[in-house]
Amino acid sequence: MSRLTGAGEQRGVEVIDEQGDTVPMPAVEHLGPDQLGPVEPKSPSPFSGVIVKKVAIGLAVVLVAGAGYAGLRQVADAPTDPNAPVGSHDPQTSTTPDDEAAAGVQRATDGGAVLQAMADAVKSENRSDFLETVDPQSTAFKASARTIFANLEQLPIGIFQFRYVSDDIAALPPDRTAELGGTASWLAQVEVSWQLTGYDVKPARAILPVTFVTRDGKTYAASFSDRFVAGQRRPVWTLGALDVAKGNRSLVISLKSEAQAKAYVAVADRAVTSVSKVWGKAWPQKVVVYLPAKQSQMEAVLGAAPNTYTQIAAVTMAELDQPQTGAPVRIVANPKLFEELGKQGRRIVLTHETTHVASTATASPVPLWLAEGFADYVAFTAVPVQDESAAKELFKAIRAGKVPAALPDTNAFAASSADLSQAYESAWLACRLIAEREGQSALVKFYRAVHASKSSTGLADAFKSTLGMTEQEFVVEWQKYLRRLAGV
Ligand SMILES: [Zn+2]
Repeated sequence: MSRLTGAGEQRGVEVIDEQGDTVPMPAVEHLGPDQLGPVEPKSPSPFSGVIVKKVAIGLAVVLVAGAGYAGLRQVADAPTDPNAPVGSHDPQTSTTPDDEAAAGVQRATDGGAVLQAMADAVKSENRSDFLETVDPQSTAFKASARTIFANLEQLPIGIFQFRYVSDDIAALPPDRTAELGGTASWLAQVEVSWQLTGYDVKPARAILPVTFVTRDGKTYAASFSDRFVAGQRRPVWTLGALDVAKGNRSLVISLKSEAQAKAYVAVADRAVTSVSKVWGKAWPQKVVVYLPAKQSQMEAVLGAAPNTYTQIAAVTMAELDQPQTGAPVRIVANPKLFEELGKQGRRIVLTHETTHVASTATASPVPLWLAEGFADYVAFTAVPVQDESAAKELFKAIRAGKVPAALPDTNAFAASSADLSQAYESAWLACRLIAEREGQSALVKFYRAVHASKSSTGLADAFKSTLGMTEQEFVVEWQKYLRRLAGV
C-alpha cells in the first residue's frame, strides 16, 4: 500500500497477511477484511500500498497430471456395470456408494482428460486443439475461451497445468443443468498453475470452478465461472482481453489497452531501479504489474469483496494461497485511482509497491510499521516530497497535541482504521529517522535483520545491534523527531 503527496491523495492498503492479519479475502486470506475492509472515505492521504498474503482454501485434491491421471485411468477403465449410465450424476437414481465412487472417478477421469488436452494445447500453442476442448453449444464460453487462449499466447507462459481438485454433482442449479443438457454435467474445482517465465520462481495458482458437460460420449469444458465462492481469486487471463508490454525489468499486463500497458513499462522499470539503489541488487529485480480496467477486475484478481479497495491505490499480492518465499508476486493497480494519480504519484506508488516485492513483504515477519515505513522511505527517496504534504495528517495531530505514544501496531494499518494515514506517515518517519541517524545502509541492515530473524526477539535484537538502543529508547528519540518536524 502506498500513499501520495498532493497529487490527488490516494491510499492503498497493506494487506500484509504476513503477520497473520486478515483480509477480506477468501477464507483467511491475509489481506483480511478487518485489515482491509472498506476504507472510511477519510480525506485521502498520501499513499498506502498493500501487501497481501493468503491462507489456502482447504480443498482435497486429485492430481490429474501425469502418473496420477494414469492411475485414475486404470480405475476408471475397470469394468463397471455396463448398464449404469456413464458418469451418471443424476441424484434421482438410487446409487450405491460404490457406484458413486466409480462415477466420481469417471468424472475426474473425463474432466481430467479435457484439462490435460487444454494444458497441452496451451503449451503447444495450438488454438484449434484448445477450442476443441470447449463445449460447442456453450457459445459464450467459446468466445471467452478464444480470448483466454489469445491472452495465454501473449504471456511468457512456462509451466501451465490443471489439477482436478474435487467436484460436486449438486453444485449446478437445475436450470443450469437443464441448459447444458448432455448426458452429464457437473461442476469441479480445478487448480490451475501458471508460471511467467523470467518472472516467477514458483508458478501462480488459483482454484477455478470448471463446468463439464458430456455430450454424445465426449466431455467438454463449458464454463470457468459458473460459481465463485467469496474470496476466490480469478486469474487475470480469464477476466477479459489482455494487452501485455514487456520492459527491461517489468511485465505490464493491462485489461484496458496496449497504450496503457506500454505507458506503465517505463514507470515500472524505473521503480525497480529506484528500489535497487536502496535495497541492493540481491533480488530478481523484476516486477509484474496488473492494470485492471475496472474496480471489479481488481477485486476479482484479489478475490476481494466488492468495494474493498475503493480507496486503495495499489496492492501487492502473492498469487498463491499459502504465503511463501519465492511466491509469484504481483502489483495490482486500482484503475480509477491510478488514473487520478499524477505522473509523480504513479511513480511513488509503484516504487512503494516494488519495495514490497523486493523485500518479499508478502512472506515476511517484519512488523507492518517497518514494511510500510520502509516502502515509503524508498518511494520518497526516489521521488522527494515536502514533509508538510507527505506527513500532513500526522503533523496536524501533533500540532493538536497528539504525539504518537508508540510505533503503529498492526491494527493501525487496518483498511478501516481511522488513523491509517498517520500510521503510514509515522512509520515512514521512523524509518527516515533510522536512516538519518545511522545511514541508509543501516536502515536496510535493520530491515534485513528483522526480516531474516526467526525469533520473536528479532525486532528488539535489530534495534540493539543496529541502533544500540531498545525500542522504547528509539520511540523517545522518534517522538522528539516528530515534534521537531512538526515545529512544536
Ligand atoms: Zn505498502
